[in-house]
Amino acid sequence: MKAAVFYGPNRPLEIADVPTPRPGAGEVLVRIAGCGLCHTDLHYLDHGVKTFKAPPLILGHEAAGIVAELGPGVTGRVVGDRVLIPSVLGCGYCEYCRQGRENLCSQMVMLGNNIDGGYAEMITVPGKDLLPVPPELPLERACVIADALSTPFHAVRRRARVRLGESVVVVGCGGVGLNVVQCAAAAGGRVIALDLNDARLDLAKRLGAAVVINTTGIRRIDKKIRQLTDGGADVAIEAIGSPATIELAFGLLRRGGRLCVIGYSPEPVSISAARLMYYELEVVGSLGCGAGEYREILALVAAGTLQLEPIVSGTLPLAEINTGFDRLRRGEGVRWVVAP
Ligand SMILES: [Zn+2]
Ligand SMILES: [Zn+2]
Repeated sequence: MKAAVFYGPNRPLEIADVPTPRPGAGEVLVRIAGCGLCHTDLHYLDHGVKTFKAPPLILGHEAAGIVAELGPGVTGRVVGDRVLIPSVLGCGYCEYCRQGRENLCSQMVMLGNNIDGGYAEMITVPGKDLLPVPPELPLERACVIADALSTPFHAVRRRARVRLGESVVVVGCGGVGLNVVQCAAAAGGRVIALDLNDARLDLAKRLGAAVVINTTGIRRIDKKIRQLTDGGADVAIEAIGSPATIELAFGLLRRGGRLCVIGYSPEPVSISAARLMYYELEVVGSLGCGAGEYREILALVAAGTLQLEPIVSGTLPLAEINTGFDRLRRGEGVRWVVAP
């Protein structure tokens, strides 16, 4: 089969012929219909972040496809099933997995990191982890649910716990932030989206933001948010991953407000312990999503409450995957998908 193989940083993925994997016990072979290109891949490709499995490795963790073959002992799946593959697979046995917090499993396995991923014609994965995709959803769009949509959904629903009528400031409208906007709007939040890019902010509006603010040149964004929210936001969600924007987001909260950090930064941040204590603020982190949340997300997408069209910018053949990563590097579009 054809696959885009990662041989190490600072070189393009190589389109190569590799052996088609065989499904072992409990596994199924899935023919990939679409796999989303993610910034996480750029960390491996450009920034020297190491993959758990050393190269050569097939990257790609946002995949959907059609079941092509069942390994021994697989039940509940048939050849031809249309399925979404979660980006992270929990062990299923540990304390966290049993609580539905597979995203915290210490034995978790990530596609395109611990094991070969979805930038290939075929992949083998445990049959138990697959999620049926409703017939009305095209697989080459639905694949991005595996990470681009599930991570923001978990942040909004489980971690920030956005409730009907709450004001929600979303700091950063990249691929993650835009989906935070649509999930928070779907949860009934009054969303205020912040970014430096007008095109991104237009998309945020299309995805349900009530107010969008280009923060270029605004010195006191906190003052502006206090005016708009009558004293500060109920919820602020940071979707960039820099100490400055995490500190900014913390400063936008009203008394009793909640900050959810979904962006990754290796640096420490500085927030006022006095404000934290005196105003009963909450600061939570958010990582990926639990396996049980995918069904809710798929149902919301099928109902049209969450949208895929605005966030999938286009589809490329597998052979043009490096072109797709160049677009991602330049910040063009929101989500690009390869369809092997
Ligand atoms: Zn990702
Ligand atoms: Zn586990």
